[in-house]
Amino acid sequence: MATQPVDSQCIFCRIARREIPSSLVYATDDAVAFLDIQPITPGHLLVIPVGHYATLAETPPTVLSALAAELPFLSRGLMQALDAPALNVFCNNGSEAGQVVRHVHFHLVPRRSDDGLIRHVEGRPQAADQRGEICNRIIAALQR
Ligand code: 5GP
Ligand code: ZN
Repeated sequence: MATQPVDSQCIFCRIARREIPSSLVYATDDAVAFLDIQPITPGHLLVIPVGHYATLAETPPTVLSALAAELPFLSRGLMQALDAPALNVFCNNGSEAGQVVRHVHFHLVPRRSDDGLIRHVEGRPQAADQRGEICNRIIAALQR
């Protein structure tokens, strides 16, 4: 197994390395899943790579592939365990987007019709020319 990058100050590195306790539910050489200490709904899971990468943009595709490969299995188990018909999966990147712990992670949040949360964040209408301009900017940024 290749050496994984680690940040000794990072709380999720310390959880992955079992240096501090967590409600761990699943672990492989590459990924760890544990309960969020402050759950949005019961069963709220965090899924992290063992290696320390701050955000999605800095995570090597192979690391992300190994992590993403666990999500269907974890989703099924979580929904079954919590008897939840639905699930939100999200990944906050950067403090402006709500990221607090700078070790990339996916939130898996079981959802039920009676959970009292909003279904989803409402979007806003946008003019077609503005959409076109943004579309072109993104296409330009994606040129390799
Ligand atoms: P973020 O806002 O960075 O996307 O999410 C970080 C999550 O980590 C939060 O939902 C927070 O409750 C959770 N968290 C922070 N510290 C700990 C900890 O020490 N243990 C566990 N299990 N969860 C933590
Ligand atoms: Zn870390």
